[in-house]
Amino acid sequence: MRLLILGPPGAGKGTQASRIADVLGIPAISTGEIFRRNIKEKTPLGIRVKGIIEAGQYVPDEVTNEIVFDRLSEPDAKNGYLLDGYPRTVDQAWALREFHWTRDTDLDHVLELEVPDQKVVERLLKRSEIEGRSDDNEQVIRERLKIYHEQTTPISSMARDRGLLRSVDGEGTVDQVFDRCMAALQQSANVPPRPLRVV
Ligand code: AMP
Repeated sequence: MRLLILGPPGAGKGTQASRIADVLGIPAISTGEIFRRNIKEKTPLGIRVKGIIEAGQYVPDEVTNEIVFDRLSEPDAKNGYLLDGYPRTVDQAWALREFHWTRDTDLDHVLELEVPDQKVVERLLKRSEIEGRSDDNEQVIRERLKIYHEQTTPISSMARDRGLLRSVDGEGTVDQVFDRCMAALQQSANVPPRPLRVV
């Protein structure tokens, strides 16, 4: 199964992604995690993206696309994956569709965690106290939310138009949200997919 999880920063995508991926036996692939690991290890990629990420901005599409396609070409991703945090721009979404076309595959479902902005800000401020992430101060959080609404919301519309979108209430406990995600995937397993290559 090839899945994408969408939602604003702080919606709990990472937590849900790893649980869902575990149950389905597929790797959860998070671009944010890949970037953070590279920053920590001070790799050339990490050095290049550090300032961008700390300012709450998006890493350029060509950099991000290449990293994701390399990762999706690894053997453990052969039979499926759960993408977390990618695609995040319409151009990335098209690049991913092209990647899938050349392999005669496609996304099966797009899960969207819905959490109101105010809740997201509260959650991220709390997370910054616990994890000390340098992109979690209030100014950067607001910037990340603004960019999310501008650039990433159109991706849910694309997914909706293609009949792939499964929106889930992202408020509540981790277990509650997880149960909703699994129910949404199971319910839609009975929905016939739309033809491939139709926008
Ligand atoms: P995340 O952990 O998914 O919230 O990602 C943390 C940060 O990494 C984001 O605020 C962006 O700066 C960067 N990032 C992650 N994924 C992408 C992407 N698909 N495109 C551009 N930048 C990204």
